[in-house]
Parts: sequence; C-alpha cells; structure tokens
Amino acid sequence: MVHFVGAGPGAPDLLTLRGAKLLSEAGCIIYAGSLVNPAILGIAPEGCSVYNSAEMTLEQVLEAIRAAEAAGRDTVRLHTGDPCVYGAIREQMDALDAAGIPWDDTPGVSSFCGAAAALGAEYTLPGISQSVIITRLAGRTPVPQRESLAAMASHGASMVIFLSAGMLDRVQEELLKGAYTPATPAAIVYKATWPEEKILRCTVGTLAARGAEAGIRKTALVLVGDFLGQGGYERSKLYDPAFTTEYREAAQ
Ligand code: SAH
Repeated sequence: MVHFVGAGPGAPDLLTLRGAKLLSEAGCIIYAGSLVNPAILGIAPEGCSVYNSAEMTLEQVLEAIRAAEAAGRDTVRLHTGDPCVYGAIREQMDALDAAGIPWDDTPGVSSFCGAAAALGAEYTLPGISQSVIITRLAGRTPVPQRESLAAMASHGASMVIFLSAGMLDRVQEELLKGAYTPATPAAIVYKATWPEEKILRCTVGTLAARGAEAGIRKTALVLVGDFLGQGGYERSKLYDPAFTTEYREAAQ
C-alpha cells in the first residue's frame, strides 16, 4: 500500500499526527527532495529504505514502490506542504490504480498557510477580499493561457504565487497588468516555518527589487493583495453583537 502524506511547510512539528504515524511505520519513504525538511525523516523506522524523488523520474518512483510492494513493505510518498497543490500526485495515483496497488492520501499544512501564519495574515478579510487565488507564473512549465498571471490579477483578490520566486521581474510586470497598483501590499516569504525563514514585506511596485536585494530565487511564495495592508477591512458579521446566527441571538 502507498500512503501519500503531506509533510507540511517545513517545521517538523507541523506534520499531522496521522502523517507522523504512517512515517513511523513505513517500510519505504520516497520524499520530495529539497522541499521536505530532512528532520522529518528522523521518524522513519530503522531499516526503512529512503529515496529522494528530486533525483527520480515518475517511472523510477513507481519502480521503487513496486519493489517495496514485492517485499511486503508499505511506502510513504512524502510531499511538501499538502500533496494536492503542485504535488504531481494524480499521475502517481492513476499509475498505482493501473498496477492494482492501493493508496490513500493524508493532507498536510500547505506552505500558503504556513506563509500566512508567518505574516500573521488572514486572506479573507471582510470588505477586502473573500477569495484566494493560488497560482503560478508560466515558466518552463506552461500555464493555460486563460489563467495567465495578468488574467488572474484582474480580480484584485488575495493571491498566492507558487513556483515563481526566480522570475520576480515578470511576476511584478504581470501583476501590474491586472487590478493591483504599484502601491498594493505584497510579501515574499522564503522557507516559511523553517529556521531560516525570511519575511520580506514590500509592495507590488518594489517586489522584484526586494527579492533581488535579498537574493531570493526559490522556495518562496509571493503573497499579494490589500489583505496585507494596515486596515480598511470590516469586522466580521459572525462575531458582531447585532447579528443573529444559528447559535446566538443578536443583542437588542
Ligand atoms: N505542495 C506544496 C507546494 C509544492 S510546489 C505546498 O502545499 O506548499 C513547490 C513550491 O511551493 C516552491 O517553489 C515554493 O513556491 C512553495 N513552497 C513550498 N514550501 C515552502 C515554504 N516552506 N515557504 C515558502 N514557499 C514554499
């Protein structure tokens, strides 16, 4: 059996209890190279085979899984953050289905949540934005044309940009083609929740310069939107004394 497990954004104690249990019982671990904190691998039992998938193709990953299955060992396929975001899990699940190998999936804390925590930010501020766009810039890996960063930026919603820290000039340019202005608040969060975490607050207009100055090229998220601003939001209805909910009567 194969267990897909989300390793969380970096800090080992952000792994879920279920993920930690599966790791502690694994016969084989295939982890996503530079992005998974190696400290997490310390949970693996003695004798467990460990592979770094950064050096492997999909075929090699499947081969390692098949070898573990033949030896009667369960595999943990350890992905950074949550496996459902840029995890390339679907192709693995489909191949496992075709091979008749059962699997399950244990979620993890995605880095976009780790980055918000590092900033003390809420993406969904009433009166500011009620949507979070998770996206990336097209690079060597394409993005559908209708989802170009400029098109996504036209909403002016809270936005998190993955996999694009090495292309901050273009990120800035594309964001400015949308609803954001040079003054729109932004942040670059490098290695959120790792000991070497860096938080760079800036604006859309200073994004590329700020990233270059700090030498950020990878393992970072770009967060954009007025949710990172100083205020201007409305208080929540849920906790407003004048608002009745299913659980609480409004004060007269
Ligand atoms: N499944 C992962 C994302 C994998 S794609 C998740 O849910 O977070 C890899 C990209 O994620 C990196 O290029 C970077 O943009 C982002 N990333 C992963 N971990 C990060 C972290 N701790 N801090 C900042 N960005 C991170």
